[in-house]
Amino acid sequence: MDKSTKIYIAGHAGMAGSAIQRRLAAAGFTNFITRTRAELDLTNQAAVDEFFAAETPEVVYLAAGKVGGIKANNNFRAEFIYENLMIEANVIHSAWKHGVQRLLFLGSSCIYPRDCAQPIREDYLLSGPLEQTNEPYAVAKILGVKLCESYYRQYGAQFISVMPSNLYGPNDSYDLENCHVLPALIRKAHEAKVGGTPELIVWGSGNPRREFLYVEDMADACVHLMDSDIDHGLYNVGMGDDLPIRELAELVMDVVGYDGKIVYEQNQPDGTPRKLLNIDRLKSLGWLAKTQLRDGIVLTYQDFLSRLDRHS
Ligand code: GDP
Repeated sequence: MDKSTKIYIAGHAGMAGSAIQRRLAAAGFTNFITRTRAELDLTNQAAVDEFFAAETPEVVYLAAGKVGGIKANNNFRAEFIYENLMIEANVIHSAWKHGVQRLLFLGSSCIYPRDCAQPIREDYLLSGPLEQTNEPYAVAKILGVKLCESYYRQYGAQFISVMPSNLYGPNDSYDLENCHVLPALIRKAHEAKVGGTPELIVWGSGNPRREFLYVEDMADACVHLMDSDIDHGLYNVGMGDDLPIRELAELVMDVVGYDGKIVYEQNQPDGTPRKLLNIDRLKSLGWLAKTQLRDGIVLTYQDFLSRLDRHS
């Protein structure tokens, strides 16, 4: 792809979008279009259409959306389904209408049925009921996959969908009520260490298994795909390996240097028991994740500490 290609990154300020922009910049791309939420409300159809008409991007990375951990998904069900489906419908339709050459839509591994066989292959989509805690978000993300597929099948639009496992890394949210498990554990372990607290609270039973992907690897996979001759389809992206939350908590405590006792808050939801992705499809295109979980947590903890410094 030409390095002067005009690229719109929707969600450039978020963890995923900012990683994609860094990765593209490192590869020599320079012609980025970005808009903050205050400048462009992606749930507003007329505003999005005007934006595409005026800017005519050639390539789009759709990394914008309402995201959060198990509790946020469960509590803010209306916002999670409404905002995500509006953003996807507006951006994907306007991208097609205004002649975008290639688009990459970012979803999540929660689109797959709760109890499907593991590791999860792309073709298990819509083969069974979803996990309840994040069903509204998952339904919206399935809609995005189906939008890309439909515009490809009817119009030949080169729209690709990428489903990453649980992402973590620089620029994550550490808001304990609403964030994902890995940033939550980093913050809790750090605060327990600094405050001399003997116990660390972990939600649920500690038994659910999760697969974690360093966000820089996710960005690398997206750029790899957009650089390939793939012109449509659904692609899982993950490490190919998972672990129970119990072991994740121990690993985070070890990296942070906190050796208190783990207490399980059993009245909090466990969510889906497991969602390990089958990554053969992406592997067959010559892509593999580079960052081992421990190394990624070390880097993420450094980012967390540097942000504390900046805010203190
Ligand atoms: P999920 O992958 O959609 O379920 O989202 P999360 O990353 O929020 O949660 C993953 C798992 O970690 C769930 O089983 C949670 O109950 C568990 N967990 C344990 N402690 C925490 C915590 O402090 N915050 C969050 N968000 N999840 C936690």
